[in-house]
Parts: sequence; C-alpha cells; structure tokens
Amino acid sequence: LSQLFRPLDLLGMVYRTIRQGVIDMGAMFDLIDTDAEVVDVPGAQPLAVPSGHVRFENVLFGYDPERVILKGIDLDVPAGTTLAVVGSSGAGKSTLARLLFRFYDVTGGRITIDGHDIAQVQQATLRAAIGIVPQDTVLFNDTIGYNIAYGRAEASADEVRAAARGAAIGDFIESLPDGYETRVGERGLKLSGGEKQRVAIARTLLKNPPILILDEATSALDSRTEADIQATLEKIERGRTTIVIAHRLSTVVDADRIVVLDAGEVVESGTHAELLRKGGLYAEMWMRQAQERDTALAAE
Ligand code: ADP
Ligand code: MG
Repeated sequence: LSQLFRPLDLLGMVYRTIRQGVIDMGAMFDLIDTDAEVVDVPGAQPLAVPSGHVRFENVLFGYDPERVILKGIDLDVPAGTTLAVVGSSGAGKSTLARLLFRFYDVTGGRITIDGHDIAQVQQATLRAAIGIVPQDTVLFNDTIGYNIAYGRAEASADEVRAAARGAAIGDFIESLPDGYETRVGERGLKLSGGEKQRVAIARTLLKNPPILILDEATSALDSRTEADIQATLEKIERGRTTIVIAHRLSTVVDADRIVVLDAGEVVESGTHAELLRKGGLYAEMWMRQAQERDTALAAE
C-alpha cells in the first residue's frame, strides 16, 4: 500500500499524485486531459474472475452528452480467446479499452466480466484483473528491476528475472554491468522502443492478469523488432482473454474473432478468412496494407 501513491512527471505536465495502475493507462490512452472520476457504488463487491468472459452489451458512450462515440456495441469475448478490434483512427477502439478498465462509465448498456457488471464491483479489483501492454511505456528514473516490478513491489528477485526472461529481455539485462540494478530513464540507460515494450510485457507477466489489452498503436519499431515482439505477445496471450487493438492487420490473422469498428459501430465481424471472403471493409484494408508491405519490401 505504501506504493499506492507516486509522484509522476508525464509529458511535461506535473501531476502531484497519480494512483498506481493509472500510469500505464495514462501513457497508453493519452489521459492527460481526463478528469473523469469513477467511484465505487456503495457496497461494491470485489470482482472475482474465475474464467475471464468479457461481454459488451449494447454499450452506448460519449465523452460529451452532445456527441455519441459508441453507438450500441455488442461484443462477446469468451474466456481465453482473442478478439481483435480494427478500424480507422477515431473509430472508438481505444474508447472500448478505456471503458473496460472503467475510466469512464457507460451511458447505456453494460459491460460484464464473468457475468458481473463492472460498474457494480470494486474498481481496484477490476483493474487488478486487467493487464495492459501500451505502445509507449513510461519508465521511471529508477532501476530496470524496479521498473519491471512496478505494480507488484513485493515480487521476489526470482520472479522479476522469470518475467524478464518471459518477455525476452532477461539476457539483455543480465549482460549489463549492473544487471537489474541498472538505472534507466532520463538520467540512466536509454532503452529503445522495443526494449521499453519488453519491460511493459515483463510487468504484465508479473501481474499475471486473466484479461489482457494490447494496443498496437502505430509503432516506431522496425519490422524485425515488431515481429519479435509479436511472437512474445502471442506467448503471453495464451490462456488469457485478450483484446488486441490492431493497426497492422498482419497481427490479427490468428485472432479467434475480428471486429471492424467504424464511427462507433461494429460493421463487420468474423475470422480473418470469413472477412476476406466477405469482400467488405476488412478485405479492402487488408489489400491496401498488403500493397504497402510489398512496396516497402521492394524498397528494402
Ligand atoms: P481510436 O482508438 O479508434 O482511434 P478513440 O477511441 O481514441 O479512437 O476515439 C474515438 C473518438 O472519441 C474520437 O473522435 C476522439 O476524438 C474522441 N475522443 C477520444 N478521447 C476523448 C476525450 N477524452 N474527450 C472527448 N473526445 C474524445
Ligand atoms: Mg486508439
């Protein structure tokens, strides 16, 4: 509990304090201008997640009452499966993730986890059940070991090492003269985008949540690093309910189900093969990205 409050300097804006767990979301979801306060209802119960079945039932939501962003979203993500959400920028993809983490309350419909309405449970227990791998990980000016254990300060050195190895960054850290005691951040070792993402993956492995959200916001990663990270992510998705917000369709081919979001509505849904056969929006996006890949390869 002593870890609950920490000073944070995020993107030049000084926050006095920010609750643990919020920081990763802040980095991922551009929460800088968010002041929404969601509070526990009286008598809220802890959320138990025996299997991790996530459902959105006719979810309506707008940040402002005048502008509806999500217009009746139905999603069903059976326990242990992967749902990919694709769609153009501004379609509402990140908003779905923010609502699942309950940064905001829905204005209509409901979101359930194993049958429990998330608006009725203790927020802390909801957030403990969800892990997020953001694209841009914020590192603290502290040791790399601290950065991995962040969120689970009581983790043992062995657990930290196992998580680092699971995220394929263990060898790199152990090759440093100071190992896990190496300082990172502005005043220490600068990590590349790919290395920072591996730190985020290691943190998530340590948290070991039944539900996972991956936001693959357009990355600065080169294609080789991206492919390596992708392989690591696929490993940690196993056995967890996963929602992948995907910008590059090459990463969603194997998802159990793909939904295409357009202007706050699910306009197509199915497997990769089904959506290609359909010849709609997804097929169009796929063809366009395949062409871009070919052009990029030809230029290499
Ligand atoms: P995506 O992740 O698909 O690119 P978002 O879910 O981030 O889209 O945003 C959906 C819509 O909601 C966009 O039109 C965006 O401008 C708007 N929006 C996002 N965050 C806020 C906010 N904090 N306040 C008001 N509008 C927002
Ligand atoms: Mg987004």
